[in-house]
Amino acid sequence: MGRVIGIDLGTTNSCVALVEPAAAGKVDVRIIPNTEGARTTPSVVGFTATGERLVGQAAKRQAVTNATNTVAAVKRLMGAKFASEEVKRQGRSVAYRVFEASNGDAWVTVGGRDYSPPEISAMVLQRMRDIAEAYLGESVTEAVITVPAYFDDAQRQATKDAGRIAGLDVKRIINEPTAAALAYGLEKKTTERIAVYDLGGGTFDISILEIANGVFSVKATNGDTHLGGEDFDQAVMDKLIADFETNHQIDLRKDRMALQRIREAAEKAKHELSSSLETEINLPFVATNSKNEPLHLVRTLTRSELELLTTELVERTLEPCRKAIEDSKLATTDITNVILVGGMTRMPAVQQAVKNFFGVDPHKGVNPDEVVAAGAALQAAALSGDGDVEVLLLDVTPLSLGVETGGGVFTVVIPRNTTVPTERSMEFTTSIDNQPFVPVHVLQGERRMAADNRSLARFELTGIPPAPRGVPKILVTFKIDANGVVSVEARDVATSRAQTIKVAPASGLTQDDVARLVSEAERFKFADEIRREMAELRNQAETLLYTTEQALEGYANLVDPEAIERTKEAVKTLRAMIDNQSDLALLRDAYQKLEGETFAIAEKLYGAEESNADN
Ligand code: AMP
Repeated sequence: MGRVIGIDLGTTNSCVALVEPAAAGKVDVRIIPNTEGARTTPSVVGFTATGERLVGQAAKRQAVTNATNTVAAVKRLMGAKFASEEVKRQGRSVAYRVFEASNGDAWVTVGGRDYSPPEISAMVLQRMRDIAEAYLGESVTEAVITVPAYFDDAQRQATKDAGRIAGLDVKRIINEPTAAALAYGLEKKTTERIAVYDLGGGTFDISILEIANGVFSVKATNGDTHLGGEDFDQAVMDKLIADFETNHQIDLRKDRMALQRIREAAEKAKHELSSSLETEINLPFVATNSKNEPLHLVRTLTRSELELLTTELVERTLEPCRKAIEDSKLATTDITNVILVGGMTRMPAVQQAVKNFFGVDPHKGVNPDEVVAAGAALQAAALSGDGDVEVLLLDVTPLSLGVETGGGVFTVVIPRNTTVPTERSMEFTTSIDNQPFVPVHVLQGERRMAADNRSLARFELTGIPPAPRGVPKILVTFKIDANGVVSVEARDVATSRAQTIKVAPASGLTQDDVARLVSEAERFKFADEIRREMAELRNQAETLLYTTEQALEGYANLVDPEAIERTKEAVKTLRAMIDNQSDLALLRDAYQKLEGETFAIAEKLYGAEESNADN
């Protein structure tokens, strides 16, 4: 087996590492520098006017002057639907074109061609692979790649696809905070809770992990996908530009070349102020005045000035920390270790804020922008047997687990690739009035409809007190322990009555099974999606019919008889569509027709016609 490399595929920068053979008992993790000598490489892909592809620093450099043909931060688009909030936000903030592909995913257009986000990420991965190959002098075909802990199955899958496109067999996808903890050897301790504070170039993530006997579980994650070093650079830039304008009445914002130089100078000054108390900014010939005389931007920036300009940004990282602690149901005093990740955590004010918040001195031994890649390399070495690295007890769920819900839909409770042990709950309810029991059908698989997945168990929660449909709250909790044993509990929140079942280990499937299921899911994605939509629409239609029938009984005398007649007609049509199993388009039309009628009635009842007039 060849060497397995570890790659931190970051939003702004990526890093590649591997474990070199070392003396017994020692582990030698190497961060591999790129051809320009840098230990991290910007995750930026650009195309020049002549169609040449640039990856890394060269692409980052042309980002301002050739913005429409330069893709940065494509990680935010990985596995994402075009309609999602994250993508909309990204689309507004970048110059390259982001559009909706036929499957609903977000794609980009650069250099005159359309690309899926995995294809762009693959170019970055290819570059990281080239860096490793140049260092080793041999071909590299296997890798461990890290992803944020909150990445869902689609995002993890998209990352794997990117690896495959780059010619890499992705041996494992691991969570970034887990990798950081591995780099510090924290898995060797018996039990502890740690916080991983990750402030990178464009994103902030906080993760609370529990490590017990080498097994990692993510207790909570939080963060801000649009907060990072670039905002700090922007704060410095704004100050430089504003002062220049005061002194010379010239707005540098309009000059792209000047902006690019100021951006680079701002970032450089920020770096220097992490180790010095003041720094010189010197940009000669940044503009010319009305007499065509050259103007220079020359000034001193102090650390305290930088801190003043960025206090609010540092503060903004603390609210997610508070939320993560709350979600993990721990107190800050339970956290025994804090790990800093991301280049921005080199800033002393950031380190101080973290220390004040968690009450412990953060770990600083490993470079914050390399710690995730180092952990990935350790995991890679453990998988390939390189170096003296013990096998790490990390595992993930191979397939999604969930339950069957209305209309035979498979509702996922624990997605595929979730690190185990894990525990997740979801609330369900009854579908008919006075329903005395709820059947729970536990399944495993990747298909959208329950019938296409593997049935693991069935049980019933009985003794639910009479109540209208939709009122009872049934909390279904899935637990997977370190051995992969799944237990499912259904609890009636009102009465606390509960029923639990244990099901066979989830590892009953071979690699081939998983591969087959995944490829089947891929093949049937479209057809499954239609069936899922159909089932969902049918459920919605049932609910609409139910509420309409109730409303007709209750308010018939308040609404004009014609409207009532039209509504009754629409009810009849929709009912017939459901009973005859009509196709999606017909059902949707009938649904919308009835919805329109009920909205019109509601508007009359509430006299809301005017306020809704522009809808
Ligand atoms: P990452 O995405 O982890 O590579 O983080 C990159 C961010 O860290 C960029 O915004 C860098 O400007 C910032 N950064 C790197 N080194 C330093 C430093 N010495 N002081 C402050 N910020 C830094």
